[in-house]
Amino acid sequence: METIFSKIIRREIPADIVFEDDHCLAFRDIAPQAPTHILVIPKKPIERVALAATDDAPLLGHLLATAATIAKQVGIAESGFRLVINNGPNGGEAVPHLHVHLLGGRALNWPPG
Ligand code: AMP
Repeated sequence: METIFSKIIRREIPADIVFEDDHCLAFRDIAPQAPTHILVIPKKPIERVALAATDDAPLLGHLLATAATIAKQVGIAESGFRLVINNGPNGGEAVPHLHVHLLGGRALNWPPG
């Protein structure tokens, strides 16, 4: 599905990109909910994790591993961070292109709202 994230991947709209490889892109969230708030997205337009195919498992793992690498690079690995994937209306999903939220830089509440 074509979304605003497709346009970011194609560089048609600007984003503060912090990492890119052949399979994924990471950029700072435009409305940060923590001092560090980065989105890690696959270049493949998977709408949400519930719609990922069995064959996508390596890509899903790559997104998590990449998020952890970025956490180290931006200096929040030691203090701690949270990875979030919102799926569907009750999950709070707004953009139907799979994305992993990397949140850190402050203590995060649990349970989430
Ligand atoms: P979600 O609610 O899980 O679908 O998260 C979508 C996220 O995308 C939100 O945190 C938005 O602030 C973020 N977002 C929407 N448009 C942009 C954009 N152009 N650049 C960066 N982040 C965006």
